Amino acid sequence: MYAFTYHRPDTVRQAAGLVARKEDAKVLAGGQTLLPTMKQRLASPGNLVDLGSVAEMKGIERKGRTIVIGAMTTHADVAGSPLVQEAIPGLAALAGNIGDPHVRNRGTIGGSIANNDPAADYPAACLAMGATIITNKRKIAADAFFQGMFDTALDEGEIVTRVAFPIPGKAAYAKFPNPASRYALVGVCVAKRGSEVRVAVTGAGASGVFRWPEAEAALSKRFSSKSLEGMAAKAAGLNTDIHADAEYRAHLIGVMARRAVDAAVGK
Ligand SMILES: Cc1cc2nc3c(=O)[nH]c(=O)nc-3n(C[C@H](O)[C@H](O)[C@H](O)COP(=O)(O)OP(=O)(O)OC[C@H]3O[C@@H](n4cnc5c(N)ncnc54)[C@H](O)[C@@H]3O)c2cc1C
Repeated sequence: MYAFTYHRPDTVRQAAGLVARKEDAKVLAGGQTLLPTMKQRLASPGNLVDLGSVAEMKGIERKGRTIVIGAMTTHADVAGSPLVQEAIPGLAALAGNIGDPHVRNRGTIGGSIANNDPAADYPAACLAMGATIITNKRKIAADAFFQGMFDTALDEGEIVTRVAFPIPGKAAYAKFPNPASRYALVGVCVAKRGSEVRVAVTGAGASGVFRWPEAEAALSKRFSSKSLEGMAAKAAGLNTDIHADAEYRAHLIGVMARRAVDAAVGK
């Protein structure tokens, strides 16, 4: 690692001020991505603004029909939250299957979505459940937030403070994990809220998370895995790498979508 200056603010305002004022500054959340990147010298911020003491960015609350999760809430805290388990059990299960215990106890929801790794789990939940990403400046709908591989709508220095999930009628996530990292080779989140059904796919797309309109149309008619029988996504535009080729990922999207629907209806 190169030398850097470490800052530990107590409020979002202080953190945003430091990021704006200090040269080449980056916020640090759980460090599960940023620190390895720095160790590999792929990133070398001159100033590191640690969000670990910003209490207003931690915790989970229910506001009417919405679950609001602080950006610095760890995956383990989301997985273990009675509020999330009761209101959106599929989201608690998703968080409980991220990486390993070390990653779940350090990694945060804000860090995960700000990083927008194309194989990360939370982006699929945000997109399928129609979440709103709240920053120190504005509110951004998930549909507008995820803009491509490792790319989001965040401006330079903008900080994700909370993520708001409208409580769906039914929702679940199914992933086919890479056996080493547990990242998704393919992960599919389905959510039904009123008459609207949304299906979001992670791990497969060359541009990161995306919705699968054909599956949404089929499930809108009847919310059952039978509606997706024989369906696979189009292989064009999907990733081919050492783990799986595009055709295999296209097939897996259909399988994971059916599993997610079965889990959502309690099969
Ligand atoms: C071995 C291993 C296995 C993993 N497996 C999985 C998996 O199965 N599924 C999965 O989804 N993820 C997985 N991850 C990723 C992990 O879950 C973390 O969520 C992810 O690394 C980023 O979160 P973080 O809190 O560690 O962020 P950091 O590493 O601290 O930050 C990541 C990036 O986001 C920026 N950032 C952080 N917080 C904010 C914020 N609030 N506002 C704006 N920008 C911010 C930082 O500046 C940095 O650029 C794995 C990671 C490891 C190391």
